[in-house]
Amino acid sequence: MSARPISFEHYWWRVAAPEPAAPAALAQHYDVAIVGSGYTGLRAAIELLRAGRSVVVLEREDPGFGASRRNAGYLGRGLKKAFPKLREKYGATYARAAYAEAGEAFRSTLEFIEKEGIDCRLQRCGRYIAASSAQHYEELAGEMEVMKREFGYEFSLVPRSRQREEFASDAYHGGAVLTALGSLHPGLYHKGLLALVLRLGGAVSGRTEVTGIESGKDSVSLSTGRGSIRAGEAIIATNGYTPPGFAWHARRLIPFTAYMAATEPLPDERFASLIPAGRTVLDTNFNIDFFRPAPDSNRILFGGATGSGLSDNRAIAARLKRILASILPSSAMSHSTMSGPANAPAPSTICRIWDEAIGSGTRLATISAGWRWAAISVPGSRAGSWIPPKGNRFSSSTRFRPCRSIAASRGSCRWP
Ligand SMILES: Cc1cc2nc3c(=O)[nH]c(=O)nc-3n(C[C@H](O)[C@H](O)[C@H](O)COP(=O)(O)OP(=O)(O)OC[C@H]3O[C@@H](n4cnc5c(N)ncnc54)[C@H](O)[C@@H]3O)c2cc1C
Repeated sequence: MSARPISFEHYWWRVAAPEPAAPAALAQHYDVAIVGSGYTGLRAAIELLRAGRSVVVLEREDPGFGASRRNAGYLGRGLKKAFPKLREKYGATYARAAYAEAGEAFRSTLEFIEKEGIDCRLQRCGRYIAASSAQHYEELAGEMEVMKREFGYEFSLVPRSRQREEFASDAYHGGAVLTALGSLHPGLYHKGLLALVLRLGGAVSGRTEVTGIESGKDSVSLSTGRGSIRAGEAIIATNGYTPPGFAWHARRLIPFTAYMAATEPLPDERFASLIPAGRTVLDTNFNIDFFRPAPDSNRILFGGATGSGLSDNRAIAARLKRILASILPSSAMSHSTMSGPANAPAPSTICRIWDEAIGSGTRLATISAGWRWAAISVPGSRAGSWIPPKGNRFSSSTRFRPCRSIAASRGSCRWP
């Protein structure tokens, strides 16, 4: 039987496509202007609106265009660099603070979604980390022990002989289960955030590219395709899409590409047998491969080729197909096709830029979301603890002092 043609529509966009949004008219002045309408920008907007500030969110495309409606929906509390490696490189105090921040972000994101009642298929499904080699399995076991000792995080090891209880692949050497971690539908989560911002009275202006920002004595002036806007402060939340024109911010981000695809719908029995416990799965490679059951269909969503820089849809699809065939051999999924490879850059630093921006007393702050939900939500929501007094500028002295820098990592890493 010949394979069906590949659809390049993003999987999540089938129910959560980017949404045109434009207020009838933009005001001349806002307390805060936010550039970028992903999770980061919207979470910041929510906190600021609730504190009584007027807020405009300016988005170059339709809101939801960015990584926030394209990602895999893994909800975790780890960092790209494993705790022992981070400790080795930066010392125990720093590593503990960074991981504590990540843990808090994870907890508060769950709490936020539940409290706000955002219907985004949130599940505490747990995660299976599959070891790519026997050595990785040993390292993973050691790392999990340290995490349990330091933070009380529970885990269980799965030897290679029992791997199929978690993941129907023989490509890995066993792994570890972290039952506390979760997943969600990223498109619906973003949709919920956007609705909340609008409900709270925020102005969201799609198709409004910010082309320049000038910081004056008492306010910031933003040049946009819809004219010039003044604001008390500006928050730049443009992720890996940060244009080179925002030189200070762009220099501090490390954009890279990542892709996701979906199999065709699978018969019930086969779908249930591939990831029997219904967890999210990722491996221990630096450029991870990942697999998860879709929350709303019998498809497996999977990705990889992170950082390959491919931009041609067909080349991306071919690469992802090869990954799928090597991990879940085509004999198991003979009619699978890719549906909707995503290509969106994401930064690999967290908190750092936010912190630097404040520390340097700059009037612009970039919030950088990391390779995990946790990071996304904390800097966004921390804007709330950084709220400028009405009519005044943000102060550079702030209670918020997150980790200074999570360097782009090499070697052993966990994601996200
Ligand atoms: C394939 C893939 C899988 C991923 N999987 C996970 C995962 O499972 N778990 C996890 O935690 N993270 C994951 N991530 C990362 C996560 O998606 C991002 O870290 C997060 O969405 C970033 O949110 P954000 O609000 O900072 O940026 P975005 O959602 O990317 O929003 C930035 C917005 O800024 C806009 N913009 C840029 N320049 C301008 C301008 N000049 N004027 C106006 N607007 C502008 C862009 O158009 C864009 O909409 C994944 C990413 C990808 C691509």
